[in-house]
Amino acid sequence: MDSINNARCQLCKETFELDAKQQQFIAPLLAKGQRFIMIECPSCGSSTQYVKAEQPPITAPQPANYRCPISQCAGWVDLIDEQSPPFWGCGECGSVWYERKNLQKEITAIMSLYPYRASSYKQLNGDWIPGSLNSEPANYEELVAKESPDGHDELVRG
Ligand SMILES: [Zn+2]
Ligand SMILES: [Zn+2]
Repeated sequence: MDSINNARCQLCKETFELDAKQQQFIAPLLAKGQRFIMIECPSCGSSTQYVKAEQPPITAPQPANYRCPISQCAGWVDLIDEQSPPFWGCGECGSVWYERKNLQKEITAIMSLYPYRASSYKQLNGDWIPGSLNSEPANYEELVAKESPDGHDELVRG
């Protein structure tokens, strides 16, 4: 699907496909770099500025958050940066990290204990970053639930 042929009406917010005439009309203008182009919306009939419809993501969506590296927790770790100091926190088990390197260390530790945990992360410039959800085993949550508790009950992990 060629996304330039799909537009979104600014008035009725309908996404529509440009007809042949509209495609012929906008293609040379876009090629010239023109940004402000008026076309008619087939849904509501009003003139609307040509706005490219959003392109569907090409690859599978990448999770922006880390899988929580605490044993028995299959939650997600978010970077909370609206607060000072910023920290990483897991909404499921409540663990908190103030130092990025401590979160990184804990990821390395859980991976060496449970090899399937490695599928949740990948390496980038010597750091662990969130991996692709598709690479996790289908029974990830079940596996995690069977882990032994880590015997560390402080919520602040470092
Ligand atoms: Zn419309
Ligand atoms: Zn957690």
